[in-house]
Amino acid sequence: EKEELRELKDKTATSKDGVTVGAWANIGGPSDVEGVLRNGADGIGLYRTEFLFMNSDKFPTEDQQFQAYKEVAERMNGLPVTIRTMDIGGDKALSYMDLPEEENPFLGWRALRVCLDRPEILKTQFRALLRASGFGYVKIMLPMIISLDEVRRSKALLEECKAELKNEGINFDENIQLGIMVETPSVAFRAKYFAEEVDFFSIGTNDLTQYTLAVDRGNEKIADLYDSFNPGVLAAIKLSIEGAHAGGISISMCGEFAGDELATPILFGMGLDAFSMSAISVLGIKRNIIHLDKKECEALVERVMAMSTAEEIKAEIRKFNETL
Ligand code: PEP
Ligand code: MG
Repeated sequence: EKEELRELKDKTATSKDGVTVGAWANIGGPSDVEGVLRNGADGIGLYRTEFLFMNSDKFPTEDQQFQAYKEVAERMNGLPVTIRTMDIGGDKALSYMDLPEEENPFLGWRALRVCLDRPEILKTQFRALLRASGFGYVKIMLPMIISLDEVRRSKALLEECKAELKNEGINFDENIQLGIMVETPSVAFRAKYFAEEVDFFSIGTNDLTQYTLAVDRGNEKIADLYDSFNPGVLAAIKLSIEGAHAGGISISMCGEFAGDELATPILFGMGLDAFSMSAISVLGIKRNIIHLDKKECEALVERVMAMSTAEEIKAEIRKFNETL
């Protein structure tokens, strides 16, 4: 079986009826790129930049950030590299930053909220990302979006950075894509409106599941309630995909659910354009896609969306898998 998987390394994730999706990997920094390439991913769908900030005793400078992003962009050699701006707060603290003690940190001052309150942090990161875009195919992604106002303010800051770099004569990709994570229900409900103002979406099912179900993703006591097959979560995913396509943009998924093999036929059937996961899951998801037929998966989606519990849905997918 390992052999069979390894043979897929240089193949694309293309279904029996010829539909190709991205098989991308998530990384935490340049040292993960080797594993990405070894496992045959055709892009990076999520580069979590938090580690750069967490493994330091002060804010990393523009140059330090630039070096890290550039290294990843260069080593991916023209394949897409989706780099997410700092997603600190929630469960991730910074020793050198005075993050307040909060009663509900996951609902608090985190991620882009911090960055928009301290625009110099975001601008430093944007400048580093723009500079790195001169060395590969870099895309910028914003976490924890809940409103178009946040998107517009971020875009205005990005434009400021572009103008600065132009004045300084520094090269960058003028058409760099700016996308958002879909990880709050507010974006899923209104996906089409967001799609009209950004270049791509990526569904963060770790947080989208947490926020849709009001179930803390890290609380062991309610771990059995934390289920992305819950029909409410699946409805949020489906709405996001439909909204993206109605707005003319592509949509990937970079939460853990993308690497859950039981989910592949329904995510593919809903029209997800790319799966981004830990590198070790890439070949398994490729193999799954290769054995699927898009039309059959669409019919499966129709059946499961009419079901009322996660257990029925999972049983229906298992039954479907037996027919492959
Ligand atoms: C997610 O929320 O699904 C996600 C990919 O981001 P993180 O796990 O870093 O919050
Ligand atoms: Mg998240």
